[in-house]
Amino acid sequence: MTIMHHPTVETLIDLVTGRLDLGRSIVVAAHVEICPTCAHQSRLMNTVGGSLLAAATPEQMSPGAAERAFARIDAHPGEAAEPPPKDPPSDLPFLPKTALQHAMGDWQWIGPGIHRRMFELPDDSGARVFLLKAQPGTRMPDHTHTGSELTLVLSGAFGHEHGRFGSGDFEEADSDVEHQPTVEAGEDCICLVAMEGSLKLKGLTGRLLQPFIRI
Ligand SMILES: [Zn+2]
Repeated sequence: MTIMHHPTVETLIDLVTGRLDLGRSIVVAAHVEICPTCAHQSRLMNTVGGSLLAAATPEQMSPGAAERAFARIDAHPGEAAEPPPKDPPSDLPFLPKTALQHAMGDWQWIGPGIHRRMFELPDDSGARVFLLKAQPGTRMPDHTHTGSELTLVLSGAFGHEHGRFGSGDFEEADSDVEHQPTVEAGEDCICLVAMEGSLKLKGLTGRLLQPFIRI
């Protein structure tokens, strides 16, 4: 697995400092779990953040601020404090441990060649999280987003005008990004997705499909 696309530094900092909502933190932490480069960067950020806090003089901090900050850093996803994960389902052997800690519903048909499996998360989790499975050759409708969309490829690959995304690759898209992914031939493409808002489909095909795509 050669990972070509990673989260931005800002997104990693947000993960390490606990500023991501639960939904997005699941997808970013899942990438960090399988990406040695980002795992190393996250450990460095933790170390640097801890050193900065330790170097600050007590009078610069409100009572308990350091303890609260350390507790937040300690509590970020992927750390040892979390319960031991379950084994992945046999049809999803590549599912990162971070994602296994949350219950999932069943696969649902959401459009031609496309299925989705929602994670059951608390209402205040921010972004919705789901597995998206698309058959080889599926051409997603040209679309943009009303909010941010984080995608981690778990198996298979897709490509669009901004590059090729294979197993382990991470894509961040927002309402400024318009793209039309096509799944490569050979195997299903399964992605872990955190999505705020909804898809906005573009073009005639998109407008025709919008009533049928239940994302
Ligand atoms: Zn990475």
